[in-house]
Amino acid sequence: LAGGVAVAGGILLGCRGPDSPDPGNGTLGGIVGSSHKTGHRLRNGYEFPRPARTERAGVVIVGGGVAGLAAARRLNRSGVRDFVILELEDAIGGNSRSGASSVTPYPWGAHYLPLPGGEAVEVRRFLRDLGVIEKDDRKGRPVYNERHICHAPQERLFIHGRWQEGIFPHTGASEEDLAQLASFREEMDRYRRWRDGAGRRAFAIPRSAGSPGAFRDRDRLSMARFLASRGWSSQRLRWYVEYACRDDFGAGLEETSAWAGVHYFAAREPDPEYGDNVLTWPEGNGWLVARMAEGLQDRVRPGQLVFNVEPVGGGVRADVYDVAGGTTYSVEAREAILAC
Ligand SMILES: Cc1cc2nc3c(=O)[nH]c(=O)nc-3n(C[C@H](O)[C@H](O)[C@H](O)COP(=O)(O)OP(=O)(O)OC[C@H]3O[C@@H](n4cnc5c(N)ncnc54)[C@H](O)[C@@H]3O)c2cc1C
Repeated sequence: LAGGVAVAGGILLGCRGPDSPDPGNGTLGGIVGSSHKTGHRLRNGYEFPRPARTERAGVVIVGGGVAGLAAARRLNRSGVRDFVILELEDAIGGNSRSGASSVTPYPWGAHYLPLPGGEAVEVRRFLRDLGVIEKDDRKGRPVYNERHICHAPQERLFIHGRWQEGIFPHTGASEEDLAQLASFREEMDRYRRWRDGAGRRAFAIPRSAGSPGAFRDRDRLSMARFLASRGWSSQRLRWYVEYACRDDFGAGLEETSAWAGVHYFAAREPDPEYGDNVLTWPEGNGWLVARMAEGLQDRVRPGQLVFNVEPVGGGVRADVYDVAGGTTYSVEAREAILAC
């Protein structure tokens, strides 16, 4: 994995939509994937037609990304089969969608899976089912199939016309920038080492394995305000932390809560056996999406925008806009899982 991010003078090179295939610097390309026009109907308060019919399902899952597919897998394993996954895009996967050229498949977003810690019981179970984890060693630690492991992954940044190691823009950084980076890293280390009386971490993966309520006041603060409150004003540090927020949540410093932003840095711990190695595939996490979707085809409905979910009677009703048909309908279910 040779992840590389290109910045020019600290500013990301502009991306253009598919309507403008030439960004003007000789590079052909554009943003693909999201049907932003469909999604913006929700944001802009579009008046959807009244649902003309009602269907029934046991469980309605909104969103066919990794979270929705994981929920479907869990339901399947518990013997619940009467669910439907409603996905606004024309394909499932969300941030873990992938594409393919005549040469190779490739990821659009998420491209690797950090090795799951012992708390990530479900992820390890899934990887065992797939043969990615081959067995456990005598200490009960997973032994991975080497084929799926990327050893010694490196991340690089293209800045001021050359490549540098790591994502923090060291090239041209001042002493103040580096001092703030060191102070930031020390604080993230403290969060990583923090344990409550029961030995639980504050920032764990999955979140449910963490100490309930620890540092949750950070959820009422944006990551931007958190950085400001610590005096971390370095533009380079802010760029680096914003990169992390975009990488995990697709949102900037202003839109990411301080709890979530810290989670990026404090939740990951090197595996005792494999260090910082990661799992990856040519299509990135799209490989996992394809495996998770196996056997679900009849219950996945792409091109369906859920524009309203509300309790009705003892259950719930989801109102859905069929993007291709331009029509609306409702799905009444015992429960809804919002994975969007
Ligand atoms: C650029 C980027 C790179 C990343 N790289 C990695 C990585 O390398 N490794 C990693 O582990 N994680 C990575 N992540 C984190 C990644 O987001 C998660 O790993 C995972 O893919 C998120 O899955 P999700 O299902 O929670 O959300 P999403 O992937 O966002 O899925 C939500 C789904 O819900 C759909 N939806 C939204 N609203 C509606 C609606 N109203 N009606 C119907 N459907 C709706 C969306 O279209 C989408 O398909 C990355 C994230 C980003 C943004």
